[in-house]
Amino acid sequence: MRVVFLGAPGVGKGTQADRIAAQFKVLKISTGDLLREAVRNQTALGIEAKNFMDQGKLVPDSVVIGLVRNKLADPSSAKGFVLDGFPRTVLQAEELGKALKAAQAPLDRVVNFEVSREDIIKRLSGRRSCPKCQATFHVEFAPSKTGHTCDRCGEVLVQRNDDKPEAIETRLKVYEEQTAPLIKYYGNQRLLSQLNASGSVDTVFEALFGVLAPYTKI
Ligand code: AMP
Repeated sequence: MRVVFLGAPGVGKGTQADRIAAQFKVLKISTGDLLREAVRNQTALGIEAKNFMDQGKLVPDSVVIGLVRNKLADPSSAKGFVLDGFPRTVLQAEELGKALKAAQAPLDRVVNFEVSREDIIKRLSGRRSCPKCQATFHVEFAPSKTGHTCDRCGEVLVQRNDDKPEAIETRLKVYEEQTAPLIKYYGNQRLLSQLNASGSVDTVFEALFGVLAPYTKI
């Protein structure tokens, strides 16, 4: 199964990508997670990316394309993958297409997660993240047991810089301008499935399962 999850920030792509990757035993490739790891480890790439990320802007194409190429070349992606947060520009989509064509492993499906702008803002602004194990919570919809520490590892939860109001505005604008054109791009390639992602995590997972089941050998 080789799929791309498309959609604005805050639509729940990452949460569903975790579940789909576990269910179908495929690799989750999240450029956001890879970049945050590079920032934490203070690698040259992380230092370059941090400013863009804190402001809610896209990291340069060449950087993220390099990251994804490495992951696709890794044997762990041989059984399939879920791409979460990549591609985000038409150039990234074209480069992905070239890499997969060379590997004779074309995409099976691109799922576009649809959530209203109002709900996206609620989801992003209430999100709290664990800086240690990356678990995420929501102050209203999925609070941690104590409200301020991680249920999984006990670390104090934080609000990501890019989940603060100004950065959220920028991220949504960047999405409209640079990422939304991919809906048409993949629609033209007859790869696109639309998914109503406004329900609960379980409801959305069920619908997603239905969309993806034909592309697995389970
Ligand atoms: P995410 O966790 O997917 O929302 O990504 C967090 C941030 O990482 C984004 O706001 C961008 O700054 C950066 N980022 C993640 N994926 C990409 C990508 N495919 N292209 C450019 N920047 C990205």
